[in-house]
Amino acid sequence: MTVLPAMDCVFCRLIGEGTAHWVAREAEAEACAFAPLDPLAPGHTLVVPTSHYAGIFDTPPDVLARSMTLVQRVATAMRTTLGATGVNILSASGPGSEQSVPHLHFHVVPRWADDGISTWPTGVSSHRPTADPLTHLADALR
Ligand SMILES: [Zn+2]
Repeated sequence: MTVLPAMDCVFCRLIGEGTAHWVAREAEAEACAFAPLDPLAPGHTLVVPTSHYAGIFDTPPDVLARSMTLVQRVATAMRTTLGATGVNILSASGPGSEQSVPHLHFHVVPRWADDGISTWPTGVSSHRPTADPLTHLADALR
């Protein structure tokens, strides 16, 4: 399936024009990786599907799997080449998630024991559901 780039999508424009600071870009690959404009850490990388999908809800499972394979390759490279002792992987999809660009992307942030990042994730939700959320999730996934 071919998905046309969204003309108003900043990531589709970067991919189409080839102007990103590339970390991984292979011909015909369904995912690519490039540096964000405002990195949280040295080596912070974004992994995105090459085709336009707004978020986790509309991305085909095979594209998602290939994207996560690239996430793993990037994380492994952070450990072996940057000496990172860990990584944080963050993605947001949909209203209320603070998704910055409506094109599915995974932040892969290399971490070191004394790197000074003191708040991850950024806070604790104050949302109070009316019923047991884990039971509802388990029921939906059966
Ligand atoms: Zn896009």
